[in-house]
Amino acid sequence: MPRPDSHTSSFKKTRLILSISFLFIVLCSVIGLEYIHWKRGNKSFLFYRLETPPIQEDIVALDQPILDSLTSLEEPTRVQPKNKVALLVDDMGYSLKTLRELTALNLSLTIAILPYSPWAKETAQMAQQNNMEVILHLPLESLNDFNANAATEGLIHSGMSEKDVLEVLEANLTQVPFIQGVNNHMGSKITAERETMSLILARLKKDNLYFIDSVTSGSSIAFKLAREMSIASAYRHVFLDSETEEEYILKQLIQLLRQAQSTGMAVGICHPYASTLKVLSENLELFAEYNCEVVFASQIVK
Ligand SMILES: [Zn+2]
Repeated sequence: MPRPDSHTSSFKKTRLILSISFLFIVLCSVIGLEYIHWKRGNKSFLFYRLETPPIQEDIVALDQPILDSLTSLEEPTRVQPKNKVALLVDDMGYSLKTLRELTALNLSLTIAILPYSPWAKETAQMAQQNNMEVILHLPLESLNDFNANAATEGLIHSGMSEKDVLEVLEANLTQVPFIQGVNNHMGSKITAERETMSLILARLKKDNLYFIDSVTSGSSIAFKLAREMSIASAYRHVFLDSETEEEYILKQLIQLLRQAQSTGMAVGICHPYASTLKVLSENLELFAEYNCEVVFASQIVK
């Protein structure tokens, strides 16, 4: 027979356990509900009333100077227009490896391909596929370099008949596909001859090709004549690599960028020499420093 006080004690124990369990369940529910609210990004439903009401700052008028300063922050930054640099790479068509290296520079280069060079068509095709512009590097007779003249296939020289000039030019044009324009290879003699240059430029105009005067001599009239004939044209400002030492090329590159900076546009001509490629690849940041962008020759001719 259990004693009556042991009965009471057992009853009290059960009641305590039940109370604790009930409290535990209530506590878990509260925590659970709070958690769900928190997850939904809502306010605490338990302490909602305890929170201070939101201060209505948003309807208080801001001082004008503060407003002005905020508005100026929202305005887009005024970007200075970039100076344009057309960079022509002459004497191309002799090495596809060099063209690949030029492609790696990731610049909008203008590739001037010599007709009758061993890889003329392949170079043109690869350049085109790699987002570069293709032009014909037209061989014109030079004043003093007899050997270079004699060795150059497709050369237009002084003393040719009108018919011969046009025939040779036509053949040159078919040698290089995808061309948008033409610049001259050598040419110190021919670019000073109004008659021959007029013939050449009139033929280019027929195909809507632009002309860049390489200015291989101070007596060139080619650019002036092209403008007179309303042919989209420009002339070379800086030769990057008349000397092939890296220091010289870098100095010329900076001169080209300064020219573009002062007039908004400049035309540079370089060659696929190892030192030129090295200087260009190691100094790509210079273009941005001088606020310049390399564009195709077609984008700067007028
Ligand atoms: Zn050349």
